[in-house]
Parts: sequence; C-alpha cells; structure tokens
Amino acid sequence: MSTQEYFDHGELVAVLTTQPLDRTLDYKAPECGCFLGAYVEVPLGPRKVLGVVWGSGQGGFDLAKARSVIRVLEVAPMREEMRLFLSKVADYTLTPMPAMLRLATRAPGLGDPPSMRKIYRLGNAQPDRMTDARTRVLEVLRDYGGLAFTLKELAEQAGVTSSVVKGLVKQGAVREEDSPRDLPYPHLDPDLPGKELTEDQAAAVARLQAGQRTGDYGTALLKGVTGSGKTEVYLEAVAEALRMGRQALVLLPEIALTAEFLTRVEARFGASPAEWHSGATMTERRRVWRMVGQGDAQLVVGARSALFLPFRNLGLVVVDEEHDTSYKQEDGVHYSARDMAVLRSSICGGRVVLASATPSLESWANAEAGKYERIDLTARFGAAVLPEMKPIDMRAEQMQPGTWISPSLRQAVRQRIEKGEQSLLFINRRGYAPVTLCRACGEQIACDHCDARMVEHRFLKRLMCHQCGETKPMPEICPSCGVEGKLAPVGPGIERLAEEAEVTFPEAKIAMLSSDLFGSARALKAKIEEIAQGDADIIIGTQLVAKGHNFPKLTLVGVIDADLSLHGADLRAAERTFQLMRQVAGRAGRSDKPGQALLQTFQPEHPVIRAILSGDEEGFWKAEAAGRQAAGVPPYGRMAGIVLSGPEVGPVFDIGNAMARNDAPLRDVGAQVFGPAPAPIARIRGRHRVRLLVKAPKGAPIQDAIARWIAPLKLKGDIRLTVDIDPQSFY
Ligand code: ADP
Ligand code: ZN
Repeated sequence: MSTQEYFDHGELVAVLTTQPLDRTLDYKAPECGCFLGAYVEVPLGPRKVLGVVWGSGQGGFDLAKARSVIRVLEVAPMREEMRLFLSKVADYTLTPMPAMLRLATRAPGLGDPPSMRKIYRLGNAQPDRMTDARTRVLEVLRDYGGLAFTLKELAEQAGVTSSVVKGLVKQGAVREEDSPRDLPYPHLDPDLPGKELTEDQAAAVARLQAGQRTGDYGTALLKGVTGSGKTEVYLEAVAEALRMGRQALVLLPEIALTAEFLTRVEARFGASPAEWHSGATMTERRRVWRMVGQGDAQLVVGARSALFLPFRNLGLVVVDEEHDTSYKQEDGVHYSARDMAVLRSSICGGRVVLASATPSLESWANAEAGKYERIDLTARFGAAVLPEMKPIDMRAEQMQPGTWISPSLRQAVRQRIEKGEQSLLFINRRGYAPVTLCRACGEQIACDHCDARMVEHRFLKRLMCHQCGETKPMPEICPSCGVEGKLAPVGPGIERLAEEAEVTFPEAKIAMLSSDLFGSARALKAKIEEIAQGDADIIIGTQLVAKGHNFPKLTLVGVIDADLSLHGADLRAAERTFQLMRQVAGRAGRSDKPGQALLQTFQPEHPVIRAILSGDEEGFWKAEAAGRQAAGVPPYGRMAGIVLSGPEVGPVFDIGNAMARNDAPLRDVGAQVFGPAPAPIARIRGRHRVRLLVKAPKGAPIQDAIARWIAPLKLKGDIRLTVDIDPQSFY
C-alpha cells in the first residue's frame, strides 16, 4: 500500500474500480488533485465508473495516453483501515477486489451533490375515489410507517406510474415536501437513564465497559438464556462507545426483529439509529452510507453487509444471535459477518460483543481457548424461569395415519386452552406437505430446474420449489403416469399442521406464523404484536418464531419433529438442532408463568436430544467439540467448499476431475481434496452442480493454496466456480 497521501494534478494514480478487472488502472489525478482513498469517477472505454484511489500509478506505458480522473466525489475518502479491511477480506474469502469494492459501496448516487429533493409521505385526507393503484400507493406508505419516499421509489414500490402519486398529492392523501438530502441522524444521548440492572447484568456491563476503555481490540462472548437481558447489557456497551465518541454497529439476523429493537434504542437513547438492511429505501441507504462516513451516524442497526459501511471511528460491533446462519453470505462474496466483525474490529481497535443463548461451537471454542472473553448471564430477568423440557416418545404414542400431534401433546395443549394460556406448535417446514406422491406410480413431483421436490402450498394453491422459487399449479393427473386423482401429500408442513390443529382443537383460535405468509415485514410484525397481546390460543410456527420475539402468554412449546434436523449430512446438524430446540423452548414461560417444552421424538436416547432435555450445554459442547476434533473438521481443522456449475453435467465433472488430479498446491500445505461429487443439491435453476471439499489442518494457509490451485483453470463457456471458505451449509 502506498504511503503517499496526496496526488497533485497530473500525477499518476492507481484506481481500484468496481469493474471485474484483475488489477488497478492508472489515471492522471484531476485538476484539484486527490487524496489517497478518494472516491472518484473514471472513464473506462465509453463509460464512467466508480473507483477509489488506491496508490501511486504503476506507469510503464505511454503517459500521453493516460486518461484523467473525471471527478472526485464529495464524500469522505476511504480510510486506510477500510482499505486494509477490504484487502484482508478479499484474501480470506478469495474474492477479487472489485467485488469487495462493490460490497463497500452499495448505495446509489454516492457522489451526487447535496441538494433539495421532493419526498412523499402519507397525508391526512382521503382521496375522493379509490382505485387499485391508489390503494397500493397508500398501502406502501402505511407499510413503511413514517418513512418518506422519492417519487420514483414510491411509484416503483407500488407498481404505479408517477401520475397516480401526483394525483394523490392533489387530493391531500399524499404529502409532498422539500427535504435536504442526507441529513445527519438525530443525536443519541448515552446519558439518559437506562433500566436498573440486576447484579448479574451490572457485572457483565462493567466487564464490557472496562474492555472498551482500554481502546484496544477485544471480543466478548455474551452468553445468556433468552430473556436474561443480553440486549439490555449490550445497549450499555453501545452507550459507552457513544460516550467515548466512537460509533457502534448492532447486527441483527432478521429484519422482522429490527422494529422491536428500534423501540428499545429509542427508549434508551432518545432517538432512532440509522438502519441498514434490504428493506431500507435507496435514498435511506445513501444517507446512511454518507453519514456513517462523516461521523454523523452514531449507531447503525443493520444486516450483515452493514459491516462494510465506511465508519469513521467504529468502536463497537454487536453481533446479536451470533450463531444465526444468516450471518454467512452465500452468494457473491462468501463471508461470515461474525468472523469479519472480529477482523474489522481488530484492525480499528474496536470491541466485539457476540451475543447468544446458544453460541456457535466456533465461538464457544474461541472462548475456551481464551481468545474471547466469556461473559455469562445465568438467570432470566424477573420471575421468568426456563421451561421444563420433556420428550414425547413417539414410539409409544397411538398415532392416526396422516396426523402429527400425539395424544400426549394434545392433552397438554388442551390444558393450556382451558387456562387461557398459549401454546406454540413448532415445525420447521413451510408449506402444506414436503412431498407430493403419485399413489399409482410412485412419482414424486419435482422441480423442472432443480434437483428438489416441489412443496405443496395450499395457501397459494400451488406447488413451489424452495430452491429456485418456481411455482406451478397442483396437477390433477400425474405428470409421469397420467393417472388421475392419485396425487397425495406426504408428510407435514406448517399449513397441514394448522389444518390438523383446527380439527383437533375446534374451540381454539389458531394463528400461523411463517415467513412466506406475510406480504411485508410490517404485516408480519403486526401479526406478532397481536399474538403477543394474546390473540391466539395456538401458534403454529416455523423457524421464524424461534428468534427473539416475546410472547408473554405462551407457556407450552410442542416440537412436532425434534428429529427433523438431526439427520442432515451437514457437520453442524447436531449443533443446529441443539440451538434451534433450545431457542424454541426458550419462547415458553417468558413472563411470570412457568413454561414447558415437549419434544416429539423417535429417539429420546439420542445424545443430542438428551443434551437438549437435560440442559447440559457445556456437556453438549464438550462432546461436540471432541467429535469435531477427532474428525479434524472446523473449528479444529479448516475446510473450503468448491462448487463448479454449468448447463451440462459432463464438462463440469471433467473440470472437477482435473482439479482433483492436479492437487499438488493443496498437498504442499497438508490439505486434502475430496470429490468431485454431485453437490447435495445437484441441480439448481437448470445448472448442474459438482462439489469438491478441501480439508486441511488448522493453521494451514489454504487460501494461498487454493488460489494457486485454481489459477491455471480455464473455465470455458458458461461454467462457474465458487469458493466458500469455512462453509456453513453444505448444499
Ligand atoms: P435477551 O436479549 O437476553 O433475550 P432482553 O434484554 O430482551 O433479553 O430482556 C428480556 C426482557 O426483560 C425485556 O423485555 C427487557 O426489557 C426486560 N429486562 C431485562 N433486564 C431488565 C432490567 N434490568 N430492568 C427491566 N427490564 C429488564
Ligand atoms: Zn427449482
């Protein structure tokens, strides 16, 4: 990296662009000169592209031919620590730098000068006449609460022409306002009084804050059962960061959760933080990006890619529900936001708080090894106690065919209904039935483009592929044998379970919660709110309910199939089951009434099920850690997944075989390659997928080795290769 900080007019600078090139390009510095790290617009062929001044130009060509930087954008230059961070992530994940730069500039119109613009909000008046188009516009505005839109954004979101919006403005149903672009965020006050902390919580806060005051990097694993007050505790770490004049970032796994969290931030600090997630408008994203860069956003709450925002002085990153799989990005740049949060903070001298009731084995092991500080919150706040956990041995239950709620579970639910308490029936499967089988020929209806069975969604009256999203109507006759009326659903999904519950408990009010049943995050949030108020006797839910929502009246959790995720080919199957079951169980008894969790299982003596039931977490982790250590797999060994894909299976396999044969660069570092084999999902969207797995001892430089291994490959035609370092899911 260059040490020259400023380049005069005409000096040669190397510019990293967002275009897929394998090197920086040389340009002459513009008339006003430019700083190292400046965001610039440069000519590339006939186009103008975004770039960052990365150092001195390489030269070595006819200088007369060098083109000039077109303009320097009016934003804070990329800081050295950010350049270092991007380079390190690129090296770690084997991602080309231009893709890293794209990740770090995901906001439109970064360089546009500040100006006034028109924004649109919900007005007070009713339009004289409603049309579908008008209704959609008003719905969009209501859906986003108080948020304002630009004309283009609003029209696009609602799927209407801008004249529809203008019409509503004339009627007063939509308000048009002038607004300066990119206002700073309101000031957050860390010295407003927080909640009075319990002794446990206060001790945790003291440890976190003591770490923060050193001004050095450090990571803490904040472990505590759901409801123990982890959020209260890390909000005090946020307060400390703000007092120190540093910025804080809170990463959350799911956007449905942000609303509840924002309310808590507002209550604690008197104003809302900046938000960064896929639901934010383009204008809002640009504002966050710019304000973060100039230090006018003290706190950002966001999804994983917020880690690549240009913070000016990042002092704290909280990764809430740190074990959540959504922190691993699995397309484009394959990175783990949890691990990269640690990397980023180690570069900028910041602190990381990893919060979870059920930490990942990786983080647990890092705490064991002394790399992370471990802080435990042991008690639930207030009167709430952890639910009693019991198995229902399905081998001993009298089950009618085509039903999934056992007599024992049925009885437990009835008791709750009588007492006016809520029950949750948990099944981690969307749709009606996972398989549609022809009883005449045995055919299972599959997706035309993927190696996956179509899942019946009765609610939508269609079959859907959960890989590619393709849907088709439910056929009357079997597509394979042509026999009519023999297609039958096999196995339960959430919709089918709801159907059974309606028949079994006709007196009960039943609510379904699944991510695909709601049109918007707001609708989902409203539903969750209603349920929390008690507007349901039975909640039927998928994974969605396992995460962080508070249902005070809930006292029973029934897990329909506790064995479901035990049998994945995935090395983390046991860990995932353990986390999920404990989290779901954690939904019960969050206020003053004790809760109970009943797990329907065919293998109550399975070690994972036993560990879940006994609550012996340390025991579970130790056993799991020993197993992985023996197998030399993460976190005690290193792994990388290579997926080759293409329209024809033959050529894809040929390349895979050639790679397996030419594995010298891997063997040099003690790594082994397995495969090629068809990937567990062997076809997605019509592309055949072939996988190789690289395994290496801990500490082996596998990125270097893999880079040398794949460098000579010539991928012809439409064949693509992706490398996933530390793969989380194996598909
Ligand atoms: P976690 O993040 O561990 O699930 P939360 O921080 O969300 O726990 O706390 C659970 C509930 O208990 C929340 O409603 C929270 O406001 C409340 N709570 C936790 N600690 C306190 C406290 N010290 N004073 C008042 N309320 C608290
Ligand atoms: Zn498909």
